[in-house]
Amino acid sequence: QFMKIRALTLFPKMFDCLNESIVGRAVKSGLIDIRAVDIREYTADKKHFKCDDTPYGGGAGMVMSVQPIYDCVQAVDPDHEYLRVYMSPKGETLTDKTARELSAHDNLLLLCGHYEGIDERAIELCVDREISIGDYVLSGGELAAMVVIDSVARFVDGVLGSRVSHEDESFADGMLEYPQYTRPPEFMGLRVPDVLLGGNHAEIEKYRRECSERITAERRADLIKAKTAASADVKTGGRYMGEITWFPGHMARSPREIE
Ligand code: SAH
Repeated sequence: QFMKIRALTLFPKMFDCLNESIVGRAVKSGLIDIRAVDIREYTADKKHFKCDDTPYGGGAGMVMSVQPIYDCVQAVDPDHEYLRVYMSPKGETLTDKTARELSAHDNLLLLCGHYEGIDERAIELCVDREISIGDYVLSGGELAAMVVIDSVARFVDGVLGSRVSHEDESFADGMLEYPQYTRPPEFMGLRVPDVLLGGNHAEIEKYRRECSERITAERRADLIKAKTAASADVKTGGRYMGEITWFPGHMARSPREIE
């Protein structure tokens, strides 16, 4: 699988930080091709390179104009081969499931707004899907697009070292992840749970599952409810409560029972 991502933005340099870490490695090894495209190059105003204007009807700030966005999208994706996403606080909220879904597309276009947002006609003409990264307002879509890119890249084959890497992780099966430890076995009087040092894989798996259930019940009862609703025979939450003696001390000790 080879994935092409184009971020359309007035601030292409912001995307430089994708050269680091896991996403950076995926780009270098040719698994994903990410480019930031400067919308400003497509404005018809070749004198001042203006890309925004005051809002019709009045109000604060500036709105990004439709023409530069439209021409930029046409130049990048003339045959509509990309899934065209507008980053917007009004969009559907990004989840693990959305990221997984998006990773199945070979071509992904991420349109980033700025200022007060973009002319509604740009959404009408150029956008397939609107995605938000949470219920707060950012000053631009760039950071949101990078959040999408990072979360999507993890699902592209070969990006994470081993195929199982993300199967264990938080949200993969509708649960939060168990706590992780590495050397040394003791630090500032805090010991790594004995079961993890023992090498009994069945015990370790049981411990991790119980931790995962407990932390999910305590922090995200909504996930357990969704999971229980999804498959009536999955009994989680409550079941192992009280049995765990090695649960990390800083985590809550009396999880709420899940109805
Ligand atoms: N006036 C708009 C917000 C504009 S914020 C409103 O009230 O809905 C400027 C740009 O930042 C937006 O065009 C969008 O691309 C981006 N943005 C802001 N918050 C975001 C969020 N939570 N998720 C994704 N993109 C966001």
